[in-house]
Amino acid sequence: MRSKIVAGNWKMNNNKGETQNLLSDLKKGLPATEAEVIVAPAFVNLAQASEALEESSIQVSAQNMHFASNGAFTGEISADMLLSIGVDTVIIGHSERRAYFGETDDFLAKKVETALSMKMRIIFCFGEELEDRKSGSHFEVVGNQLKNALFSLPEEAFQSIVLAYEPVWAIGTGETASPEQAQEMHAFIRKTLSQTYSESVAQEISILYGGSVKPANASEIFSKPDVDGGLIGGASLVAADFLAIVKAI
Ligand code: PEP
Repeated sequence: MRSKIVAGNWKMNNNKGETQNLLSDLKKGLPATEAEVIVAPAFVNLAQASEALEESSIQVSAQNMHFASNGAFTGEISADMLLSIGVDTVIIGHSERRAYFGETDDFLAKKVETALSMKMRIIFCFGEELEDRKSGSHFEVVGNQLKNALFSLPEEAFQSIVLAYEPVWAIGTGETASPEQAQEMHAFIRKTLSQTYSESVAQEISILYGGSVKPANASEIFSKPDVDGGLIGGASLVAADFLAIVKAI
């Protein structure tokens, strides 16, 4: 079901105490909203976040998971481990996982398959690099990322997937895609889904924009018809900023 979503990816930030403080500020300040609000703390703080938010409408997501169900994968976390602490949403394919940890489309496809088989909800990230945008190949790059990681899935799988278009050149750089650039790509994504699957898949999926979203630019980006919300990095670490972005939707 297509819904408005604001999700905060905390990345490798916030120790236990800082996590507690930020969660408490978010709970206290959460405005009345129709949007789903999601936070993704670091693995070690997920159980704590899950407990702290039990009575709150704020949901918890993991930032990553492994595709294997268990075994000799030192340092990795399985879907079952996440589910056992009440976390049923996972971010897959973030550009930092792709760039720094060598996660390829094929590798991500396996994670997607596992997450779906475990009935988890996926926030699937993708987006072009600056050189792709400069050379005009951004639509092709994004189309291929979706095709390689997702388009072997059956149509019903898309009920459990949220897409997050995050142009790499706009992540953590302060440089945002213009609302028009975001809209243009989101419309392209819906068209691609419609052509590959059906118009209902294209219309029912939530597509988030991510890349230097801040209180100052959120409402303009969110006003675009094919933008259903945002995946927020830096600004999700400051309660007042994240809450202002929630209010902007
Ligand atoms: C992100 O990493 O998903 C992100 C969008 O980061 P930022 O908001 O800091 O650009």
